Amino acid sequence: MTAQEYVETVLHDIQVSSPGQVEFYQAAEEVLHSLRPLLEEDPKYIEHNILHRIVIPERTIIFRVVWIDDAGKPQTNLGYRVQFSSTLGPYKGGLRFHPSVNLGIIKFLGFEQIFKNALTGLGIGGGKGGSNFDPKGKSDNEVMRFTQSYMNELYRHIGQTHDVPAGDIGVGAREIGYLFGQYKKLTGRFEGILTGKNLRWGGSNTRTEATGYGSVYFAENILNANGMELKGKTCTVSGSGNVAIYTIEKLQSMGAIPVSCSDSKGTIHHPSGINIETLKAIKEVNRGSLEEYARLHTDATYVPLHSYPEGGHAVWSIPCDVAFPSATQNELNLVDAKHLVAHGCRLVNEGANMPTTPDAVAYLQEHDVFFGPAKAANAGGVAVSQLEMAQNASMEHWSFAEVDTKLFEIMKNIFNTAHETAEAYGHPGNLIVGANIAGFQKVADAMIDQGAV
Ligand code: NDP
Repeated sequence: MTAQEYVETVLHDIQVSSPGQVEFYQAAEEVLHSLRPLLEEDPKYIEHNILHRIVIPERTIIFRVVWIDDAGKPQTNLGYRVQFSSTLGPYKGGLRFHPSVNLGIIKFLGFEQIFKNALTGLGIGGGKGGSNFDPKGKSDNEVMRFTQSYMNELYRHIGQTHDVPAGDIGVGAREIGYLFGQYKKLTGRFEGILTGKNLRWGGSNTRTEATGYGSVYFAENILNANGMELKGKTCTVSGSGNVAIYTIEKLQSMGAIPVSCSDSKGTIHHPSGINIETLKAIKEVNRGSLEEYARLHTDATYVPLHSYPEGGHAVWSIPCDVAFPSATQNELNLVDAKHLVAHGCRLVNEGANMPTTPDAVAYLQEHDVFFGPAKAANAGGVAVSQLEMAQNASMEHWSFAEVDTKLFEIMKNIFNTAHETAEAYGHPGNLIVGANIAGFQKVADAMIDQGAV
């Protein structure tokens, strides 16, 4: 069987066995097609049937979560934890609370996480979880009762050498706190079973900032390798959550000008540069809407979601040198890619997971826009999560500067690995191919070492 035939067979089998899981299929298609140069060169991966094995999670847990709302009424949600691969270490990957969550989304995120975690070189497996619970509009007490109920089931499936979840969309410091408290109550044990913990009780310096800072470090590596730098560049950023905020903060400290942010209701364009204090106050403290930002800064414009340009998103119609999609999956489509190319954008660097649609990626590559793929560009978060696990295990606490320096080095290594692998397999400059092959090879070789399990 040729590499091409093998990839087609595995993708066909995914469609049959996982009907309707469109995001998972999209992620698998991108990874598997890009592995062809490796599969052609080394037949052992086909002989050991690695692709068929790696696309099936080791374990999928789906459970009912019942919680009591403020009116005293029981409400229900679905809870998920997909333990995808423990080949390189304990399952590691965040929890997402968002109404769009379903099994296909959790599987896409878990699948990507396997290779991302392998790329960090840190000995962590891949997993992901979450719920279709929507924290928006809920009181603190409702969020607490939901998260406690979610942990009532999850606690029996996690452990510091087994599975260590973290945050993702809708799961930040508040939710991690409630989850940790409930785990401790249920088990009587204070242990590092979650990362992203508060600094006061077991968290790591720089974990909050890690994904955004890491994404900016990665972008700087790409630009430097091509004779450019972020300093002085106009940058557009989407989202206004954890990843977006710390992308904007780091861009400013490196002398770039981040001019946008967005949320699920609209986009802010602030040509003189986003005011980070205002953004943090609205989103981190008050959990408010970006409409408030335009009221406070009259030289900024707010474009509500319903008035976005035909088929595209307002944030990508703003002229920029570098774009940082940092909100959610499939948020940058072909229409947006055309806007970016027309405005002379030089680099798209993915802070979110799979934010760029496949046709948009192809268009950007055809037009020589550099591309930082998510599994490499946003790996800083999980890398510092692993550093949090290491500190918990050794009962140490490293300084902000110490962890930031390690993060910087890890992002540089990830870039070098992806860059060199792309070149070695005949796709120079294509970091998608480089990241996928390098991450896959680490996991696949270890799977072969560990036998057919
Ligand atoms: P947050 O919940 O902190 O922020 C998400 C942001 O995206 C918010 O501004 C939210 O708007 C917006 N958003 C979410 N869903 C949608 C949607 N369907 N349509 C439009 N806007 C949306 O999440 P994070 O910043 O943590 O995560 C952002 C992305 O980065 C995700 O893809 C995540 O998987 C990825 N990621 C996160 C890591 C981390 O360490 N946190 C690590 C690696 C990747 P609103 O404010 O209105 O809700």
